[in-house]
Amino acid sequence: MKSASITQRRIIQVLAICLLAGACGILAGAAAKARIDGYTNTPLQPGGKWTVHDPRRPQPAIVTPGTPSTQETPGKAPSDAIVLFDGKDLSKFKPSNWLVKDGYVQVKGGQLTSKQEFRDVQVHVEWLASKDIKGSGQKRGNSGVFLMGRYEIQVLDCYNNLTYPDGMTGSVYGQHPPLVNACRPQETWQSYDIIFTAPVFKDNKVVKPAYFTVLLNGVVVQNHAEVRGPCTWRNLAKYKPHGPTGPLSFQAHGNPVRFRNIWIRPLNPPAQGAEAPKKDK
Ligand code: MG
Repeated sequence: MKSASITQRRIIQVLAICLLAGACGILAGAAAKARIDGYTNTPLQPGGKWTVHDPRRPQPAIVTPGTPSTQETPGKAPSDAIVLFDGKDLSKFKPSNWLVKDGYVQVKGGQLTSKQEFRDVQVHVEWLASKDIKGSGQKRGNSGVFLMGRYEIQVLDCYNNLTYPDGMTGSVYGQHPPLVNACRPQETWQSYDIIFTAPVFKDNKVVKPAYFTVLLNGVVVQNHAEVRGPCTWRNLAKYKPHGPTGPLSFQAHGNPVRFRNIWIRPLNPPAQGAEAPKKDK
């Protein structure tokens, strides 16, 4: 009986140790999960919700970065991007007769417009002026990337091709010339990375203008440029109130410019304290 009693006690001791170790493991795991360094006894940030270095503040979403393109191969979009054109079809656009071939889409007919509408966005698009494009000035490889279907970043073959500066590649057409001319020659893929902040309207008046930041081939050509209104020709741009979202569109200007690797990342939430009118005017 005595030896049985010792065995029982040892079993109980072992079980207790196991339970204790398990509980400690769970607690350690929970502590590790919750362990975010920071401070809650610091001043409140503007807005009055989070303190300086507040560990309770929501963690930003994890995004897998894309990969850069080469001349031969388009790169890969970031994991949270909406890929509008991956070289295969135009299903993300309204019906058009633009030519899809060899991984690119080429201007043909009227403008190309996305089915989905957006507000504040990051846009990536690559374009190429083919050797078939002739002419000079505005007639040489003219197209354009239109945010909200209205606000144009010009596309033009400006490599050894002079034109008015507020109509060059990288310009906010008719308003802001590019900071520099970073164009590559014909038959070369060029990239645009565009950050656009949509205008905000209230009571049919603009209360916050649109802004463009643009990189052409990795070079900043617009730095938070204030937009004065939609694209216009030979006139001053002037805002007309419109809805809070609009499509991404590409201009048909009679030149066979090619595009590839088109993706977009919405950058909402929308601006606070103001609203757009319900009707598009
Ligand atoms: Mg244009």
